[in-house]
Amino acid sequence: MNAEIISVGTELLLGHTINTDASYVARELSAIGVNLLFASTVGDNIDRLKEALENAYRRSDIVITTGGLGPTGDDLTKETIAKSAGKPLVLHQESMDRIIEYFKGRVVGESQKKQAYLPEGCTVFPNDWGTAPGCGFKTDSGKIVVMLPGPPSELIPMLKNYAVPYLMKDSNAVIVSRIVRVFGLGEGYVAELIPDLTDGANPTAATYAKDGEMFVRVTARAEDETRAAALCEPVVEELKKRLGDYIYGIDVESLEEAVVQELKKQRLTLATAESCTGGLLSKRITDNPGASEVFHMGVVTYANDIKTLLLDVPEETLKQYGAVSEQTARAMAEGVRKKSGSDFGVAITGIAGPGGGTAEKPVGLVYVALSDKEHTWVRKMPGTGTAKGRCYIRTLAASNALDM
Ligand code: ATP
Ligand code: MG
Repeated sequence: MNAEIISVGTELLLGHTINTDASYVARELSAIGVNLLFASTVGDNIDRLKEALENAYRRSDIVITTGGLGPTGDDLTKETIAKSAGKPLVLHQESMDRIIEYFKGRVVGESQKKQAYLPEGCTVFPNDWGTAPGCGFKTDSGKIVVMLPGPPSELIPMLKNYAVPYLMKDSNAVIVSRIVRVFGLGEGYVAELIPDLTDGANPTAATYAKDGEMFVRVTARAEDETRAAALCEPVVEELKKRLGDYIYGIDVESLEEAVVQELKKQRLTLATAESCTGGLLSKRITDNPGASEVFHMGVVTYANDIKTLLLDVPEETLKQYGAVSEQTARAMAEGVRKKSGSDFGVAITGIAGPGGGTAEKPVGLVYVALSDKEHTWVRKMPGTGTAKGRCYIRTLAASNALDM
């Protein structure tokens, strides 16, 4: 089946809101094996929305709209779609009850109540996260239309809980996806290692790159979950063989999640000392609920004398080798481990730029150190200049620390 997304909202065209909804919908569609052919954006305007709809009906089987379901005058999506499909809007009492309940005794205006009127015969997607319900229905010419509200906090759960099951209800296939996450190899390089794995139809394997990492998604379709999982399995095993230690996790969300899970499993603890990343590493670790079981402390030691004061980095080391050096990284990691009494100390020191680089120490040069009771390892990011930007350098530095 082919699909098209129509994002409705003038704020999207003005550049005030980034169209994250389209990206969520696109990812969910690809995960269930629906081909997304077009994604368009229109303002809050009846004529242009009609035009977008006509185009979409002409070329796609499924049309998914986001936004414009709310109570205000510019929320016109539902009215426009229902009219063009020749379906009257009828009261959906359960939605009305929910809206009244949502306002907890306060007066509910007519504009709020209009949200409970939905195209006749549609499947209603209840909104447990806001007021405007979504819905899905089939037009007389057999096109599937799905409408979802604009706010991502409503759209994301409604998409997963209602819209996706609605789209899959007539299919007797189940889709299973596995994600193999890789750090330290480029997407192009990995793609060259696995051409035979990425050209299959079922299962499919595809490579993706983001923020200096890459992952391979393996997706299979079968009549039940066990069979779909069994189709994925040999491809995942083959990826493990070919990519080896570069794989940091399978079916995990991120490097930091993999690290926290592994530390929990091994009952080990960690402390961090950061310079150029300014706390990004400890932020990423503590993004995981339950991090307190494994994370003892994170310090940002930006100034040299603070590295000495808090971490016992010898003044001599700083003087002789500088703050951005293998020796300082090593001393920071050992210092934070000892001070916190953790099993591991991790440290990052580098030049995030854009200023501050020299011929010997270019922008992007970062040392990452990991210390346990017996060893200290140091990894060097050699520095590639200012082109990639401060944010990228800091992200990659924290990712290298997590990878170690
Ligand atoms: P509401 O009940 O909040 O009015 P709605 O379905 O009518 O919901 P809109 O009025 O179109 O949705 O948008 C409400 C808000 O949702 C926007 O101000 C914006 O912050 C967010 N939003 C809308 N569309 C998108 C989108 N495509 N991507 C990300 N955010 C969006
Ligand atoms: Mg609105």
